[in-house]
Amino acid sequence: MLIIRTVAEMQAFSEEMRLNRKKIAVVPTMGFLHDGHASLLRAARNDADVVILTIFVNPTQFAPTEDLSRYPRDFERDCAIAGESGVDVVFAPLDSTEIYPNGFESTIDVGSVAKPFEGAFRPTHFRGVATVVAKLFAITKPHIAYFGQKDYQQTCVIKRLVSDLNIDVKIVVCPTRRESDGLAMSSRNVYLQPIERERAATIWRALCAGKHLIESGELRSREITEAMSRVLAELHECKIDYATPAHAEYLHVPEIFSADEAIVLLIAVRFPSARLIDNEVVFPHK
Ligand code: AMP
Repeated sequence: MLIIRTVAEMQAFSEEMRLNRKKIAVVPTMGFLHDGHASLLRAARNDADVVILTIFVNPTQFAPTEDLSRYPRDFERDCAIAGESGVDVVFAPLDSTEIYPNGFESTIDVGSVAKPFEGAFRPTHFRGVATVVAKLFAITKPHIAYFGQKDYQQTCVIKRLVSDLNIDVKIVVCPTRRESDGLAMSSRNVYLQPIERERAATIWRALCAGKHLIESGELRSREITEAMSRVLAELHECKIDYATPAHAEYLHVPEIFSADEAIVLLIAVRFPSARLIDNEVVFPHK
């Protein structure tokens, strides 16, 4: 497995692979890998000739008040997991000036899908995500790229990005990997105190309650929200940033959903030690 630290070397490597007609897959991550990341790597390994894992804790997607400096890192362990998952190249810049050199000032704003939910609570987040993903695509030159459903709104933003800017990369969204009690795997779960960790699966139970209601025929947005909120009310110590159904593609929230279109249930909860997000896509009962 090759470890590449510079943009120039990464581009030269991918250019050569393309000249040799190799199919290149990329899995962008911020490192501190868990089985959710590994599932993307396995999917990529299955589909492509060359699998590139990128590890970059992207400063531009963190607000000044967020957890950039304490974001968990373990490069050696990440490389071990990458090796076991069949990765060919780890692209891991040594510092952020490799990606954002002096004078850098272009950014990408994706439209309406980036505005609500995470966009409302983290106003600069998706600009950072869209910009770094576009850059990572230009650096690694993939044919196909893998993202997790765990970050549902992010997948909407990235699909919009590649479509609007004619970026010739196929986007694959892989299912969310969960712990045995339903908590979505996340690098940020390490922040949780033991008692918070125990209670964090409440988020999954709230999603299941919303899902159950929709599958039994409920299409009114307020009723679905209330079903999830009732479960989340058990989390007295937490602030619920949002818990809502939304149109699975455009992310708007009608009063009544159509029975013909998928609904995504979106939740963001602030525990004292960590902010967690999760989601579930539901197909209404017909
Ligand atoms: P991150 O390192 O948190 O930026 O995540 C890198 C990629 O892994 C993103 O596409 C995430 O959506 C995906 N990912 C994170 N957690 C999970 C999970 N539990 N299951 C599947 N994919 C995930």
